[in-house]
Amino acid sequence: MNGEKIFIVCENCGKKYRINKPDEKRVFNCKECDEKIVVYPSTQIDSSNKKEINNSITIIISIISIILALIAIIYTENTNKEIDNVKNETMNLNSEVNDLQFYLANQRLEISNLIDLSNSSIQDIGDGFKVAELNTSKHMTGVKIKGRVINMTSCTHQSINFKIYISNQEKTIFITQISPGHSTSFDTYIPDVPIEKARWATFKYIESVLKFKI
Ligand SMILES: [Zn+2]
Repeated sequence: MNGEKIFIVCENCGKKYRINKPDEKRVFNCKECDEKIVVYPSTQIDSSNKKEINNSITIIISIISIILALIAIIYTENTNKEIDNVKNETMNLNSEVNDLQFYLANQRLEISNLIDLSNSSIQDIGDGFKVAELNTSKHMTGVKIKGRVINMTSCTHQSINFKIYISNQEKTIFITQISPGHSTSFDTYIPDVPIEKARWATFKYIESVLKFKI
């Protein structure tokens, strides 16, 4: 007997006892239910210690929970930041691709006949045709181009297809008929072209049906 108190519970009825810690295995009967209670000197922990340990465990679990919550918050914030970064990079890439397309379109325009859409006087588009009275205006997401095509050849062209290349867009213009030396008006809408990129264009004659005078 060393005077140390221990805390035991009757496994049958739950009656609690605070007894002196035994030096060797001790057996006694429960005062409540007469159940045999066996006490070993090595297996019992004093109740006050037990409470302290329980409290410590509770505090540690709380701290771990808080740390885990903080980690989760930081991780989420970082993930959101990364998503934002990827979004920004994608937007930058998109605008670079657009610039590149615009550059390529301009390159293509430079090697062919460039037509100044802000110029209303007569301009040669090749293949025996000229354009005149050009007028460009902003319309919905793109531009509206009006003008006249002059037939400089000596034959009547019918069902004529022209292509307009502007910025990174292209559009087919259909004209029913132009007599020799005459002009026919056209009016076309080209979507997704900002007006500031609608200064220069290329007109290309694609095909037509020729009607000869006999
Ligand atoms: Zn008992």
